[in-house]
Amino acid sequence: MTMNYLSTRNKDLRMTAPQAIAQGLSPDGGLLTPAVLPRLPASAVETMREMSYQQRVVYIMNSFLEGFAASELTAYAAEAYGGGKFTHEDVAPVRKLDENTHCLELWHGPTCAFKDMALQILPHLLTASLEKNDEKKTVCILVATSGDTGKAALEGFRNVDKTKILVFYPKDGVSEIQELQMVTQEGGNVGVCSVVGNFDDAQTGVKKLFADEELAAELAERGYFLSSANSINWGRVLPQIVYYASAYCDLLKTGAISKGQQINVCVPTGNFGNILAAYYAKCMGIPINRLICASNANNVLTDFIHTGTYDRNRTFYNTISPSMDILISSNLERMLFELSGRDDRLVREYMAQLAEYGSYRVDSSIRTKLKKEFIAGCCDDTQTQAMIAKMWNEQSYLIDPHTAVAFHVLEEYRQESGDDTATVVVSTASPFKFCSSVLTALGVEQQWTGTDILDQLSTHTGVAVPAPLARLKKRRRRFSGVVEKSGMKGCVLDLLK
Ligand SMILES: *Cc1c(COP(=O)(O)O)cnc(C)c1O
Repeated sequence: MTMNYLSTRNKDLRMTAPQAIAQGLSPDGGLLTPAVLPRLPASAVETMREMSYQQRVVYIMNSFLEGFAASELTAYAAEAYGGGKFTHEDVAPVRKLDENTHCLELWHGPTCAFKDMALQILPHLLTASLEKNDEKKTVCILVATSGDTGKAALEGFRNVDKTKILVFYPKDGVSEIQELQMVTQEGGNVGVCSVVGNFDDAQTGVKKLFADEELAAELAERGYFLSSANSINWGRVLPQIVYYASAYCDLLKTGAISKGQQINVCVPTGNFGNILAAYYAKCMGIPINRLICASNANNVLTDFIHTGTYDRNRTFYNTISPSMDILISSNLERMLFELSGRDDRLVREYMAQLAEYGSYRVDSSIRTKLKKEFIAGCCDDTQTQAMIAKMWNEQSYLIDPHTAVAFHVLEEYRQESGDDTATVVVSTASPFKFCSSVLTALGVEQQWTGTDILDQLSTHTGVAVPAPLARLKKRRRRFSGVVEKSGMKGCVLDLLK
């Protein structure tokens, strides 16, 4: 197998695809990235047009994964996206809103958020990688979550052979629906525990567990090792490239665009993983023109794209689009690597400045390329709610707060630029995951509690509750553990007996 993955901080640090997926992060702190980005053949879109989503997965991923047979990828795609796991047969359907506005719905998976798109297939890529690397121990995935990732990871790893998963969430930091989703999780290899404090407490706690050598030694003795499933793992970025290619093919298939016609994409952004996948799709040859990066009040990326200075030294806001409440967008490092012409020394320098001062300023050549590729905008909570109401009142389309941020930023961009390019807006969560904010946006102040709020939103709008959320009502609470940060180690040792 060729060592065709490298670190964004050192191009000489090389690994195979299964090593890159098993390791997640490069030992030098860099992000593992393909040494060469494959170009699709000129006929690719025509070929993929008639394929199912699962077939498109194999077609795109195959060229990145030396050491994985197409038959293996076919089996993973079937397990991840087939068998009724997604409630829509197209898996990632494109909904037409008007002549040049289309919405790519990425929330038809088992947890109703776009994290499913990657976390349904990652466990298969990971376990196969471990086998190819001749790893004998069982992996235990540790996750600290502020909501969507924890549940999606639990569903993805549920009952996957040779894996265990343990999720920690902040006792006071997730919505009631999100908590219910996690504490009712099924599967013989899963654990869920809440931590007293906020997301930061849970996150620091997990980082400490990873650094605990005594724990690692004890677990090794029991036949286990710890790993993470976070969004910088190449195994999470890769599956996301597929849905951009897929959306383009679907637009072509329905006649919404003609062959070779360029589109824009507008993506609600946090850690920069989703929009980075769109950029890679473009590099591979999918006709994408502008990448519109939409942020909430935590608009560190908007400022960066406009000015070339990344500065995390600013107020942190808790918004109604919490999955984008991020001040360090980790996957941006891969973008800097590409825009600098793959200058690993420069990336290393910027990341050192970020670690030391919380900020860095990119050179003028990168600034120019950033402005050419990206449009950026942001949106506060009031504007987010106004957009939810507007989409519902004018188009009878119910959207979640993250998706609303994207629609707001697109509307502003179109008004300012007059650019009427056909645009795909990426919808990242079902509105039913954020019932309370959506109902408030629709002017409903008296809100029902517990799972009843799902019915309230459904009754108010006539839109059906997605099946995975409707099922929550009948689910038994399986987990009730609450620990102090100091008790987290005990949870790990209990699960991995
Ligand atoms: C994670 C998430 C995002 C942000 O995606 P990134 O890849 O981190 O940019 C947006 N919306 C929802 C609903 C999410 O769960």
